[in-house]
Amino acid sequence: MTHRTQVAIVGAGPAGLLLGQLLHLNGIDSVIVENRSREYVIDRVRAGVLEQGTVDLMKAMGVSAGLERAGLRHEGVYISFLGQRHHINFPELTGGKAITVYGQNEVVRDLIDARLETSRPLYFEAEDVSVGDLDSTTPTVHFRYDGAEQEVRCDFIAGCDGFHGICRPSIPAGVLAIYERIYPFGWLGILAEAAPSSEELVYTLHERGFALFSMRSPKVTRLYLQVPPDESIDNWSDDAIWDEMLRRMTTRDGWKPNIGRITQKSVTPMRSFVAAPMRYGRLFLAGDAAHIVPPTGAKGLNLAASDVLVLGRALKGFYGRGSMEWLDEYSDLCLRRVWKAQRFSWWMTSTLHRSPDETAFDHQRQIADLDYLTSSRAAMTSLAEQYVGLPAEVSFESAGLKA
Ligand SMILES: Cc1cc2nc3c(=O)[nH]c(=O)nc-3n(C[C@H](O)[C@H](O)[C@H](O)COP(=O)(O)OP(=O)(O)OC[C@H]3O[C@@H](n4cnc5c(N)ncnc54)[C@H](O)[C@@H]3O)c2cc1C
Repeated sequence: MTHRTQVAIVGAGPAGLLLGQLLHLNGIDSVIVENRSREYVIDRVRAGVLEQGTVDLMKAMGVSAGLERAGLRHEGVYISFLGQRHHINFPELTGGKAITVYGQNEVVRDLIDARLETSRPLYFEAEDVSVGDLDSTTPTVHFRYDGAEQEVRCDFIAGCDGFHGICRPSIPAGVLAIYERIYPFGWLGILAEAAPSSEELVYTLHERGFALFSMRSPKVTRLYLQVPPDESIDNWSDDAIWDEMLRRMTTRDGWKPNIGRITQKSVTPMRSFVAAPMRYGRLFLAGDAAHIVPPTGAKGLNLAASDVLVLGRALKGFYGRGSMEWLDEYSDLCLRRVWKAQRFSWWMTSTLHRSPDETAFDHQRQIADLDYLTSSRAAMTSLAEQYVGLPAEVSFESAGLKA
């Protein structure tokens, strides 16, 4: 079966679904092709911190009802070291900006609902997805659906299929420059049925390694521990996890996370990755398909959203003005933000984790770094403005949205 559309979107994660919605609002037709089931895509436990700009974008796109109902506005974070927590106040340092904690599961659920309401096509469980004719003006996406072969002919393909997708590997060898750093540790993450004991995230550097306290809702705590990158989750009983969480997180004033039943646990390796340019011919990469950050800076989902704003505006420019100008700018514009987010995420990661090959000097320097950060208004302002998100590369109006 052959379909014709303007933009074929591969992947129904945050990047693909946000792009589909932005194109819909601009009257641009799209087909979204996803190889997993709807339930799988929604249930995947991942990000939870939304920058102010991501929240504003979702509001401007009319997909923020759930976020406004259940999102938890956070006006700062704690940085904890040597047994003491230090607060960094975002609104005070950034002219009123904050972050919102709202699970990626919920973001994706809301965006799928919004997509279904538009009645535009969204195929789950598509098999053997492939892209072709990328350097022509009519690229194609092929897949099998319900046992039948499908072909989508389009003007552009948006590769929103994440780090392990097929779009980036479909670009001929030698076109992309790859920049990568693999960290010598991973995160053991848990979800626990426990009311958060702090209203804000707590980032801890402990002599036994990094730990992060966060939350998903007023009844669910999300916690992370630094572990070796190849650590098997089977080595960690629930009791061992709680022992280590409490050992690293408890502060001298007696603050510690509440304990509850662990409902999900997994180990994620940490990597920084950029593929440039984020385009080949008529294929445009967005989100994790083009770049990965370690989760310490909470930037991954937010970068996916900022790529989509720039790509949506560029496609609007093409269909509205018949001009390739904004599409030609897409990669450079996105990469400026991507590299700043990479730098911030690398800095947060290296300052807060203990590296197997570090020296005693390195550890004292980390402590001095955190001491300076939490005692200098200039240093706190720098962290705050990056954490809540740097200004958008393009205006909402230029992407067809009301600010
Ligand atoms: C443990 C963890 C914690 C994180 N915490 C944060 C955080 O606090 N804040 C933050 O901003 N980010 C965080 N992130 C990162 C964030 O989850 C990702 O950056 C985000 O999911 C990127 O969205 P995406 O749409 O680009 O990619 P994805 O979410 O990976 O979506 C890609 C989609 O493409 C589909 N796909 C893959 N291959 C194919 C194919 N061949 N055909 C069709 N479809 C395909 C996938 O099934 C998926 O649905 C975290 C990540 C992890 C793992």
